[in-house]
Amino acid sequence: ATQFGIKAALAQLGIQDINEGTSTGTQSFATGAILESYSPVDGQLIAKVKTTSAADYEKVMQAAIEAFQSFRLIPAPQRGEMVRQFGEKLRQNKEALGKLVSYEMGKSLQEGYGEVQEMIDICDFAVGLSRQLHGLTMHSERPNHRMYEQYHPLGVVGIISAFNFPVAVWSWNAALALVCGDVCIWKPSEKTPLCGIACQNILSEVLKENNLPEGISCLINGDYKLGELLTSDSRIPLISATGSTRMGKIVAQTVAGRLGKSLLELGGNNAIIVTPDADIKMTVIGAVFGAVGTAGQRCTSTRRLIIHESVYDKVKTALVAAYQQLRIGNPLDQNNHVGPLIDTDAVEKYNKALEKAVIEGGKILVEGAVLSGSGYESGCYVQPAIVEAENSFEIVQQETFAPILYLLKYTGTVENAIAIQNSVAQGLSSAIMTTNLREAELFLSTAGSDCGIANVNIGTSGAEIGGAFGGEKETGGGRESGSDAWKVYMRRQTNTINYGSTLPLAQGIKFDL
Ligand code: NAD
Repeated sequence: ATQFGIKAALAQLGIQDINEGTSTGTQSFATGAILESYSPVDGQLIAKVKTTSAADYEKVMQAAIEAFQSFRLIPAPQRGEMVRQFGEKLRQNKEALGKLVSYEMGKSLQEGYGEVQEMIDICDFAVGLSRQLHGLTMHSERPNHRMYEQYHPLGVVGIISAFNFPVAVWSWNAALALVCGDVCIWKPSEKTPLCGIACQNILSEVLKENNLPEGISCLINGDYKLGELLTSDSRIPLISATGSTRMGKIVAQTVAGRLGKSLLELGGNNAIIVTPDADIKMTVIGAVFGAVGTAGQRCTSTRRLIIHESVYDKVKTALVAAYQQLRIGNPLDQNNHVGPLIDTDAVEKYNKALEKAVIEGGKILVEGAVLSGSGYESGCYVQPAIVEAENSFEIVQQETFAPILYLLKYTGTVENAIAIQNSVAQGLSSAIMTTNLREAELFLSTAGSDCGIANVNIGTSGAEIGGAFGGEKETGGGRESGSDAWKVYMRRQTNTINYGSTLPLAQGIKFDL
């Protein structure tokens, strides 16, 4: 860690040995139990966090509610200016924050920097958006009437995030919510609390410099029980939750039970279809990066390759050869391709999945293994594996958050491949590798992929912030980030104004007194 400048990065980000895990913006406090954050990179304790107690949570909630009263009155472009300043601070802290992401979560340093870049990009997007929170005008059916719609801030937005994108996912939500005039309470994953504290420290400088009220952007730290306080709190009109489908099903029911809104970003089971007309070189690069990048811990990681029988052996041989080149090790060392899994529980799930795949009849093409010895002391480093399988296997139907790639063969036309691709419970990201226009267009058509993301000649992972991000079916249906995803953070109001001197009723109804 010292060698890669982690100590200096922690100091720059204001991370101490013991940190107050609750913040209302510039004020930090906490009275809950201690949470320790260990790095999957080297197994070392990075720092401790005092978690948020129920009483701390109540203080945060009060501050947020109060802040909303004044924050909603600040014109949206001025709120955008605050987000612009946050983007500037992120630029100044990109290296330090990227390093912390890599060290606390275990993704490669380049991906850590990439995550911070995504935060900067969404800030830029949100600044522009702050002048474009447009509604429509409609023609009224009544004379001398005007009708239009406008968007108002919602209130307190609860953000629950997963460990694998410990900073970017929060910023996708917070940057949009803040320009929309909402205030936020963020509960990061209990596996990456320091990333949350670092982001809050950076944002708090902007809050201080602009004298903004406490409570606009709050942080709470703890496990799922603290998450449950958020989801069951009827003072929170919108819960945005990113994580497993298991978690999403509980959150959805709790929030729906009080008729709140939820924005859910859950698990994926993403596939690339490889047709006879695929560019094999591009396919291999896209598939390998998609399957082993972030050690297979992206919601958009490639889990299934659906390959036409005519090119199956060629793709298989190329993939197996590519996997032999992979360097597994410290993700801060830019010579390595694959870093660790988040913790030893994840390693256990990886082992179990491989065992299950074999029991179900799968054939191992690239053997999995848990690495040990020098450089692998954390016990979290695993060998990316490739398994020949069938889509109907129970294990193939599940999302295992690890670098396991299933090869599935299809015969006949691309319709057969699309049917296999859609035959899973999840619907996040999908891709087709083909130079055949008919196949590509069919894949993107109504009869094609049923996922929220469908790509042509690009792998499944790595989306840009400009598009709406999210997926269908058990992925939860939510959309975040670009396009018109902002609308979920606001309430829509339809307004009709009568500037005439009579009161005609709609639908021609007569009501004479
Ligand atoms: P997880 O579901 O274990 O935890 C996610 C968050 O939910 C954590 O902050 C956790 O404390 C909280 N939580 C858990 N149970 C809760 C409950 N009952 N009530 C309230 N909060 C609760 O997920 P994880 O292991 O951190 O992340 C991996 C998962 O996240 C994968 O399934 C991945 O596909 C998914 N993910 C999806 C997206 C997306 O955009 N679709 C993005 C990133 C990750």
